Amino acid sequence: MKVSPVLRVEDLYVDFDLRAGRLTAVDGISLSLDRGETLGIVGESGSGKTVTALAIMGLLESPGRARQGHVWLGEEDLLQLPEARLERLRGRKIAMVFQEPMTSLNPVLTIGEQLAEVYQQHLGLPHGDAMDESARMLERVRLPDARGVLRKYPHELSGGMRQRAMIGAALACGPDILIADEPTTALDVTIQAQILSLLAEVQAEMGMGLVLISHNLGVVAQVCRRVAVMYAGNIVEEGATAEIFRSPGHPYTAGLLASVPRRSTPLQGIRGAICDLLHPPTGCRFHPRCPKSAGECEETSPVLSPRSSGRVACFFPNG
Ligand code: SF4
Repeated sequence: MKVSPVLRVEDLYVDFDLRAGRLTAVDGISLSLDRGETLGIVGESGSGKTVTALAIMGLLESPGRARQGHVWLGEEDLLQLPEARLERLRGRKIAMVFQEPMTSLNPVLTIGEQLAEVYQQHLGLPHGDAMDESARMLERVRLPDARGVLRKYPHELSGGMRQRAMIGAALACGPDILIADEPTTALDVTIQAQILSLLAEVQAEMGMGLVLISHNLGVVAQVCRRVAVMYAGNIVEEGATAEIFRSPGHPYTAGLLASVPRRSTPLQGIRGAICDLLHPPTGCRFHPRCPKSAGECEETSPVLSPRSSGRVACFFPNG
């Protein structure tokens, strides 16, 4: 039986109107997330991953703006909602965890005060009950001595503990969707693994949809069944993670995979750097870096077309 998507992004464009001109950071992408599904979004810095997440959450700051498109959460288009309604939905229905929890946590409030506020604001719990729920949530995200942690300030916790506390705050109201943007990038490798398995555990336990944003393909492979690869504001490939890892269709995906360090094969990078989005190349935005580029690629933009279990935007896909 087909599960209906809990989130649908349709033809989303995000612009930044800068003095130097208009920069289109997200260039007409569409994606969907089913209830309980795990979707990874990967790509280099500047590919549009975080901007997409911020647009979905309604957290874009000026001069960024969603110029066109829809973000459907159930029957509601988040791009059309007034801020008061969005605030109600954020946390309750859709929540986000950021790379560096110190930027989201208030340094002058204890962890307990910050978590309890979520329960008080969104669920209307009295302070004592909110503190009890906060302690339970910290236990759920495997923080030892939860009551003790509630009394601590963010700077008194390690990076891994802060990220667990942030995940706890994001999960407090049992959202349908959690967007985690590079949640392990700022952490030591051993802690990264713990946070990833925690995310996978709570996702499965709570049955929520998870969007995991990362530049690291290995991170996405550990947690996500489906992956969308972004390049210069476009989704260039999407499909089942295992399939794409086994046989990447897009030359950019293949290049990303070849850039992952492995003992058995020499490391190969992708030549050049991501294009200047103020002056993107004509045709396929990847053509200046693509080893397979041919005349057609410089003139026409390829669109996502079906390929085995997914879709790829390339005139000469692999396989
Ligand atoms: S369309 Fe052409 S330039 Fe773009 S990825 Fe495919 S082969 Fe390379």
